Amino acid sequence: MRVSHYHLNTQKEAPAEAEVTSHKLMMRAGMIRKAAGGIYTYMPLGLRVLKKIERIVREEMDAAGAVELLMPLVQPAELWMESGRWEQYGPELLRIKDRHQRDFILQPTSEEVVTDIARNEIHSWRQLPVNFYHIQTKFRDERRPRFGLMRGREFIMKDAYSFDRDEASAQASYDNMYAAYMRIFQRLGLEFRAVAADTGSIGGSRSHEFQVIAETGEDLIVYNPDSDYAANIELAQAPCLIPTRAAAGQAMRKVSTPETTTCEAVSGLMGIPLDRTVKAVVMAQPSPEAGKPVSLCMLLVRGDHELNEIKAGKLPGLNSELRLASESEIQDAFSCPPGYLGPVGVKDIRVVADLTVANMHDFVCGANETGYHLADVNWGRDLPEPELADLRNVVAGDPAPEGGTLAIQRGIEVGHVFFLGDKYSRAMNATFLDTDGKPAIMQMGCYGIGVSRIAAAAIEQNNDEKGIIWPRAIAPFSVVICPMGWNKSEAVREAAEALYQQLLAQGIEVLLDDRDVRPGVMFADWELIGIPVRITVGDRGLKNGVVELVTRRAGQTQEVPVQDAASQAI
Ligand code: ATP
Ligand code: MG
Ligand code: MG
Ligand code: MG
Repeated sequence: MRVSHYHLNTQKEAPAEAEVTSHKLMMRAGMIRKAAGGIYTYMPLGLRVLKKIERIVREEMDAAGAVELLMPLVQPAELWMESGRWEQYGPELLRIKDRHQRDFILQPTSEEVVTDIARNEIHSWRQLPVNFYHIQTKFRDERRPRFGLMRGREFIMKDAYSFDRDEASAQASYDNMYAAYMRIFQRLGLEFRAVAADTGSIGGSRSHEFQVIAETGEDLIVYNPDSDYAANIELAQAPCLIPTRAAAGQAMRKVSTPETTTCEAVSGLMGIPLDRTVKAVVMAQPSPEAGKPVSLCMLLVRGDHELNEIKAGKLPGLNSELRLASESEIQDAFSCPPGYLGPVGVKDIRVVADLTVANMHDFVCGANETGYHLADVNWGRDLPEPELADLRNVVAGDPAPEGGTLAIQRGIEVGHVFFLGDKYSRAMNATFLDTDGKPAIMQMGCYGIGVSRIAAAAIEQNNDEKGIIWPRAIAPFSVVICPMGWNKSEAVREAAEALYQQLLAQGIEVLLDDRDVRPGVMFADWELIGIPVRITVGDRGLKNGVVELVTRRAGQTQEVPVQDAASQAI
């Protein structure tokens, strides 16, 4: 690509709203431009990166036996009503009407449409297993779109859906996708970790997230450096986080019964009406009083309530004060032995790492079944962001499940695999005729990769004060040739042009910077944009038959003979 024919528009300053490095650098490098909150144009350089990521994802999905199709962005409400998600999904689902006042949605994910395809296309066990995937624009009306491509409202996702005859075969499909994801993130050149995860509002029973390690990540990962144990902190087991509090957790579980710990029971206890959009949020903190190892408070919080409103003792819309249960009320409700549970001051509300979603799920029996997700709590959105430092203290020295001690780090969720079972196939009656000639329900899994988020995550992990350092596999171009004096020196022009042709012939994605701008400007642009290799062609070097080769990551400068430049650049 000749730069004079391309579109470049780098900027010295990032817009004030850009908080994290990747957002700042993508704006400054001219890779994205904002159209509205969380909605961006992928500019030419940015698009090239996305295409690279897509290509790796596609190759590995194809190699894993998945079959590509393309499902619609606009989906009919009827299918979402069948699955129940038309009602359950909440405000993240963008609902629209056509000119006939018929309801549609912009897809945030595609379980419904793919299940509809499967039930219409698949009739016999002979057609199974099958895994359909697409790479498509998603829309989620995120409450806080931020960080550029990291949390957009419109974004690009690869989503795959497996259909199997039975659970064993579906688990094998899950394992197959898990392995494909490992290969994908290795090929992308990112430092990542696969962690056990909560299944969130999509539902299902087995789930792993693929997390790119970065300090700016919104997720917290608890892991054992000496073993394979790694979990999203939402799911990390209480006993391994805080051994001293584990006993309290166990005791609470033992004394709680399905009758006393339903959402309804807690709702009654707290005097908060329960409606379909209620979420249960559990908070715990160490009690300052001796003999009370854990203070625990359970709130039922409507999805649209801000934490600070709750803290202020107000639940808007309900027009009633948040009432905290007294110790004896809690004891009555949970039949707890005295001393285990105590009231929590509203001011003290915060989430801590010692009581987990997994425990809480047991604790509030049945909460998940009725769609009241304990698990669907987003830190920073529903609850204050825990301080990493606090959590580091919490886990420091705590024993890990398989021995050793736990560590904690931040991550960016770039991929997620779920075992769905028959959640959608049962609701939507996706059956096939099994070997015995009888109809059976398909077993499903779903598998997402955030294509556009990966671009941002890669930058969070790979940057310096000069700009982006793309991993080679996803750099927009591999090499840039910078002629010193394009318009002044015939020799430079000829050598640069020859090198350019040579690299093109080798299939290298190469830029020829024929803008005739000052070297400082040129270098700053390519360092900001993050091209892995720069070849500088100047009169001085050419006299000795050499050009200068600089790698972006190591910053190493090397003089190489002109004739070797093309082969050494890759
Ligand atoms: P998050 O926890 O960050 O909100 P999620 O768990 O809601 O993500 P999934 O439903 O698991 O997301 O979707 C699969 C993948 O899509 C995620 O792993 C992530 O990489 C990507 N993704 C989800 N939401 C966004 C978003 N708002 N912007 C960009 N990518 C996203
Ligand atoms: Mg989300
Ligand atoms: Mg998530
Ligand atoms: Mg997820």
